[in-house]
Amino acid sequence: MASLKLEHIYKVYPNGHKAVSDFNMQIKDGEFIVFVGPSGCGKSTTLRMIAGLEDISSGELYIGDTLVNDMQPKDRDIAMVFQNYALYPHMTVYENMAFGLTLRKTPRAEIHEKVMWAAEVLGLKDYLDRKPKAMSGGQRQRVSLGRAILRNPKVMLLDEPLSNLDAKLRSQMRSEISKLHQKLKTTFIYVTHDQVEAMTLGTRVVVMKLGRVQQIDSPQNLYDHPVNKFVAGFIGTPQMNFFNVTLLEEKDKVRVHFVDAEQPDIFLTKEQVLKAERKYLTGEKVVTLGFRCENVSVVDEDGEGTINVIVSHFEELGDETLIYGDLKEVGGLGGETQTSIIIKAPSKLGHVPGDIIKAKIDTTKIHLFDNDTEMTILPAIPQDNVLPVKVENEKLTLFGTINKPDSIAVDLLQEGTITLPLTAFKVGEGNVKAKIIKLEHKDDVHLALVEANKLKLFVFVDENAKEGDEITFSVDYSKATFKDAHEVTVCSPLTERDKLIATFVNYKTAFEVTKDQRFEDMKNERVQKVTEEYDAKLAEFAKEKDEAIAKATADQNALAGEAAAKEAELKDETAKLNAKLAEAKAQYSKENKEAKAKHAKILKDALAAINAQYKEMGEKEKLDYQESMRKNRDPESRRQRRLAYQVFRESFPQMKQNDIERKTNSLEFDKETELNAVKFRYTQVKGDVKDTIKQHKLEFESKYHPLDAVTKEYAKKEKELMAARKEALFRAELLFFFKYDDYYQVIPEDITKKAIQGLGEKVFTKNFRIEVPHDVAVEEEGAIPFKVVALVNYGDVKLYKCTGELFGEKMTVYINKTRDIELGSVIHLRPELSKTQIYEDERNIRLY
Ligand code: ADP
Repeated sequence: MASLKLEHIYKVYPNGHKAVSDFNMQIKDGEFIVFVGPSGCGKSTTLRMIAGLEDISSGELYIGDTLVNDMQPKDRDIAMVFQNYALYPHMTVYENMAFGLTLRKTPRAEIHEKVMWAAEVLGLKDYLDRKPKAMSGGQRQRVSLGRAILRNPKVMLLDEPLSNLDAKLRSQMRSEISKLHQKLKTTFIYVTHDQVEAMTLGTRVVVMKLGRVQQIDSPQNLYDHPVNKFVAGFIGTPQMNFFNVTLLEEKDKVRVHFVDAEQPDIFLTKEQVLKAERKYLTGEKVVTLGFRCENVSVVDEDGEGTINVIVSHFEELGDETLIYGDLKEVGGLGGETQTSIIIKAPSKLGHVPGDIIKAKIDTTKIHLFDNDTEMTILPAIPQDNVLPVKVENEKLTLFGTINKPDSIAVDLLQEGTITLPLTAFKVGEGNVKAKIIKLEHKDDVHLALVEANKLKLFVFVDENAKEGDEITFSVDYSKATFKDAHEVTVCSPLTERDKLIATFVNYKTAFEVTKDQRFEDMKNERVQKVTEEYDAKLAEFAKEKDEAIAKATADQNALAGEAAAKEAELKDETAKLNAKLAEAKAQYSKENKEAKAKHAKILKDALAAINAQYKEMGEKEKLDYQESMRKNRDPESRRQRRLAYQVFRESFPQMKQNDIERKTNSLEFDKETELNAVKFRYTQVKGDVKDTIKQHKLEFESKYHPLDAVTKEYAKKEKELMAARKEALFRAELLFFFKYDDYYQVIPEDITKKAIQGLGEKVFTKNFRIEVPHDVAVEEEGAIPFKVVALVNYGDVKLYKCTGELFGEKMTVYINKTRDIELGSVIHLRPELSKTQIYEDERNIRLY
């Protein structure tokens, strides 16, 4: 069992297709995760990267705490189940399930116990000696599940395992897989394009589209709180109803007006839209209203939330009926329009196509999406608070009045809005007082609706906060966006990170251009380090070798006296063995000769017998013929007898020849068999004798002449060590740089590795975007020149704004004020690479 962590995972196929972009997820031990999305959205690619069947272009994959990017699939401790079962057709169910265990040389009794357990769990006990072709699809899939669980993997990966099965089997297998997961408590990752499967199986579901994660959530949350229109439409059947509407905030309600059809307005409470930005509530912006067919019902009377629907057709679902209709077009043909609607009803309720019926929308179950971004405008966790603000005479009035922070760069703004992300509020710090009105908890996030200075806003609080609590918070104004009364952005927040552009070059290029002695020194230092390291290793090796040789020499000398005697003995023994061999050889020659002679005689006798036999046969036939010619006077009979004799004489030599050949072949075979047997006996003796002599010699050499063996062994070791040294020196000289116009920065080895892993050879032809947080630019002589243009004051935070140019593009970098710098002066900065984010710029692939 294991947890998994996917960090900024990208997959770019060799043909340039970007199949997965920036996949981030933490999977807890024992979770059942489902990847779902339309065909081609990158589900299988992600799964295959986890399995190790596909390289990861960029990013990091951890199983447990181990980084497994470069680990072979077989070492990842995973099992995979595919839609096509991948069973061995010539093996029984038992053998198929036992196969992996057999390969791993598990004891037979243990295999049996485990296979029986899996067969029990999966209901396969009665099929153990069947072959796969005699089983149904569902049974075969259970066998492949069985095989997978017997590996006892840390993670089970399932790639559309049920898509080959018919609807009934699918639903049966779904519940079996679910039960299996509960029994095994292993981490499951399951890929499907079927949202029903996803919603019934997953503890959490990852919805993907075009290689990007749209939402990761529990099935219930996906259904109740889809983050965008895609997820809302993808989850749930039939698809959610969508309509264009405008929203207008009135005194104590929000008016929803249908744009594409004449319908009565419906109303939401103000509470419901607290999380929506004010800009959506002006009655001007068209947004998408969504609600599911189960959240609208047919009613008899007009009332709040009631609209008029023209019925077009019905779909009976057994206990329920889907009513298809339209808000506008009479007798619509069921084709989808901007105004078509589906309602789930207990029955047809006596209606016929063309009827106009009244439908009441459950306004507590509605969804709202931005028409441009398709994102929900009612997020479970809002990103920002948008609050009314007043600026006058260098003063800002929001939660009280303060000196205007520098991020409002104009004085003209009188009244407008300030947008502050929730992360700009630090509860427990600062001096703005607020009271918690309402609390919401989602996973580990605790969201509080608070009231401060008569303004309602959301902040994050800790788990101990209670409704009614008084709190204080601070505000980071560098994160604020200001808009004037006409919604025009007056000032944008500072980006969290500044951007630098660089290219990637090797040492040779960098040194040729810069002739920078430091680079050469650095390379030399690396080479020096490796050289020293290997010098030390070689010295140790030499010492070890000397000791081993000294010992071998001593051993050899100590036994020198004995060795001479032993050598004579060995010689004697060898001679004896060779004599035995010679004897065997003579024996073999003799036997060989005798066998040949014996068979020559057999052949000769056999041929003589055949000759005699045919001679007798010929003579007998001749006599018989003469006799019958003598006795028989009937011309027809005589003619027939003559013909018969003629045929006999013509075929006679061939018959004899055939007999001779048959006999010769058969005797030849007997002879070969006997000669081979004789030869085999000899070669065995020969092999045994030679092996014994060799063995004795080896034993003698290793005991009495160990010096040779030791010398050879150390020569081999030395060769290996020298090869490793050469490789390490080669690596030491491989130094890479980011080039920012004229400034070259050495890239740390881990970043180099990731860039090369992600881009291969292309690393030298790409532009890199280095994203630098404000506090990680380091001043260094000779680095990238920037002009200090302003000191920007955000209250607690003071930043110098510095501008420069790289590759003809203007760059702006903000640095923390750590010393006083004269405005207008030029400073030299470089990013501290280990604290930056690094992207391949063109395709926006994060490499670090
Ligand atoms: P899914 O499993 O969601 O249907 P895949 O992960 O199989 O999608 O594929 C994602 C995208 O990558 C698709 O557009 C597919 O055509 C493409 N793709 C898959 N395999 C390769 C490959 N070996 N080479 C190039 N493109 C591929």
